[in-house]
Amino acid sequence: MRALNDRDIWLRCGTLFTPFQRLRDCILHIKEGKIYQILSAADPRDIPDAEIQEELDSTVAPGFIDLHVHGARGRDVMDGTLESLHAMSAALAAHGVTSFLATTLSASDSDTEVALKGFAAHHAKVVDGARPLGIHMEGPYLNPIRKGTHNATYLKPTEPETFRRFIEVSGNAIRKMTVAPEMDRGLKLIREALNRGIQISIGHSDASVEQAREAVNAGVHQATHVFNAMRPFHQREPGILGLVLTDNRVFAELIADGIHVHPVAMRLLWRVKGSDRTILVTDGLSAVDMPDGEYPLGNKKVIVRDGACRDPDGTLAGSTLTLDRAVRNLVEWLDVPLYEAIASASATPARSMKLDNVKGIIHPGADADLVFLDGDLVVQKTMVAGRIVYSRNTDQHKSRGATV
Ligand SMILES: [Zn+2]
Repeated sequence: MRALNDRDIWLRCGTLFTPFQRLRDCILHIKEGKIYQILSAADPRDIPDAEIQEELDSTVAPGFIDLHVHGARGRDVMDGTLESLHAMSAALAAHGVTSFLATTLSASDSDTEVALKGFAAHHAKVVDGARPLGIHMEGPYLNPIRKGTHNATYLKPTEPETFRRFIEVSGNAIRKMTVAPEMDRGLKLIREALNRGIQISIGHSDASVEQAREAVNAGVHQATHVFNAMRPFHQREPGILGLVLTDNRVFAELIADGIHVHPVAMRLLWRVKGSDRTILVTDGLSAVDMPDGEYPLGNKKVIVRDGACRDPDGTLAGSTLTLDRAVRNLVEWLDVPLYEAIASASATPARSMKLDNVKGIIHPGADADLVFLDGDLVVQKTMVAGRIVYSRNTDQHKSRGATV
């Protein structure tokens, strides 16, 4: 008989999305935190029945990956504390997220360094929920004309020395950076970042179509919360948006909450990008999993009403969206096949970060990061590296965000 050790897990899954294939009644074998093999339940096998955990009522899928999230449960990445990373990690896991990029907001250099140093010091200790993959710096090299909720005081042209210092104090944890490519020396910074393995996402940008194309030709393959905080489309100057929509090399972040982007615009993006180029993100703030009210954002406040976050002047400021809800929204509003919606929250963000084969997919050798969904696509359990880190049955944090 096959030698079993403590770390072997055998899950009999009613429905499993890899996400590209739907498998019925299969057995998922997890060993040492990784997917080891996938067997048909009908195959002759030598696993004792007692070892098999039945998950016949769940849809099992790769855990979700949020590449753009600022906070949750009253905490923010800018706090730079272990408590904040823990709060985010727990909240995200409750929504099926197994890994995320802790996302900064444009701030003074010293406040930015507090966040980066805090991440460097603490991220390795965050093992009981969604795992931080690194940092997404949203700013400060953004165009004030398209600042969204970012404080214009802190936006500036690129500065190579400061940029290198950011990388250093983060302990080389910056994985992605949103940059407006038309800013002074923007392309130079983009080339340096790409050379250092940092993915660049163009956004908060007033770039012309040519400026955006130059950035993509230089190796940029992502765009930040498409439609939001970018020059709008015009038929004679399609701008950054026109380039992003028509250049197949570019992955597009989408905040699918129906507040940031109208469902008709979501459908347009889906038609041109599909599941293999659309990355579902939340842009979630500290108000995620919290009631309506006022929350700090940098040194401003945001007002949350009916789940929408706005500056006092009415500008949209991040969201209270969660990735499980984004997946449901795509399925409900756009009639997207479930496996495609799941891919946009798992395999596609992983591929955009060059983590395919490791994250966002269920196949031998990949990390055993899984989400278990019920028939209404509500998260029942979340597994990270072979360990259950969230179970709806024992959820202590009953909140609006944790329900449909
Ligand atoms: Zn933004």
